[in-house]
Amino acid sequence: MINFTVHGCCAGTEPLPGARHTSYCMEINGSVYWIDAGENCSYSAHLNGVDLLATRAIFITHPHMDHIGGLGNLFWNIRKLTYVYKDEGMARMEGKTVSLRVSELRSWHGIYETLCCTEGDFKINFNIDAAPVVDGEIYRDENMVVTAHHNSHLIPKTEGDWKSYSFVIHADGKKIVCCGDIRDYAEIGDVYEGADMIFVETGHHKVDKVCNFFLEKGYNFGKLVFVHNGRRVLDHYEESLETAKSLVGDRVIISRDGMKFSL
Ligand SMILES: [Zn+2]
Repeated sequence: MINFTVHGCCAGTEPLPGARHTSYCMEINGSVYWIDAGENCSYSAHLNGVDLLATRAIFITHPHMDHIGGLGNLFWNIRKLTYVYKDEGMARMEGKTVSLRVSELRSWHGIYETLCCTEGDFKINFNIDAAPVVDGEIYRDENMVVTAHHNSHLIPKTEGDWKSYSFVIHADGKKIVCCGDIRDYAEIGDVYEGADMIFVETGHHKVDKVCNFFLEKGYNFGKLVFVHNGRRVLDHYEESLETAKSLVGDRVIISRDGMKFSL
C-alpha cells in the first residue's frame, strides 16, 4: 500500500491561511518519498506523523520557490531529528543515502551552502546523492522506478536544457503521474493512460477544463488529485469540488494541507 500525505496544496500565491506551497509525499514499505518541497513542508509533515528520518528520495519538479522553498528546512530537520533522537537517530541515518533529483542543480548548491553556514556547519552522518533531472529514468530502488518527462512550464535558455518536469512513478504495482506545473496536460503525451493516481496542478488551469481533458482523451485512470491549487480553487473549494465531481465523479480529490489518502 502507498500512503500519501499532502503538506502543501497551494500554487505560488502570497501566504494564505492553511494552504502552503506545493509538497506531498508517499510512504512505501517504511520509506518516504517527496514530490516537491514547498515552504514549511517538513514542519507540516513532522507534525502530521510523517517520519522524516525515513526519507529516501526527494523529487523536485522545477526550481520555482513554491516547489523548492522548503528544501533547506527539510534537510535541516532531518539532521535536527537525527540528533534529537540521539543514538537511535544517529544509528538510523548512519551511512544512509538520501537521493535528491532537481533539474537546476544550482538551486541545490545554493541551499547546501546556506545549510553549511547553519548550526554545526551542517555536519551529517548520511549521504546526499544530488543529481539533475533529465528525460527518462531518474531513480530506481526496490520500491519504485521514476521516469521524468520534460514540460514547457519553463522554457530553456539553451535548447533542450529543460528545467521543468513531470514524473511517472511505478511503485507497488501501481502507476502514479505527478504532472508538475504544466502549460498543457497533453504536452507529455499519453503517460496518463492506466494511471492509478494522477496529481494534476490546477494553478494554471480551470477545474472543468482539467476534468474534460482527461474525459475527452478517454484515458483509463483511477483517482485525479488536484494539487498546486490556485485561488480559483482555494477560494471556491466546495463549488470546485462539486464541478469536478459532476464530471469525473468520486474519482476526484481536491487536496488540502494535511490530507492523507492511500492507494
Ligand atoms: Zn508552481
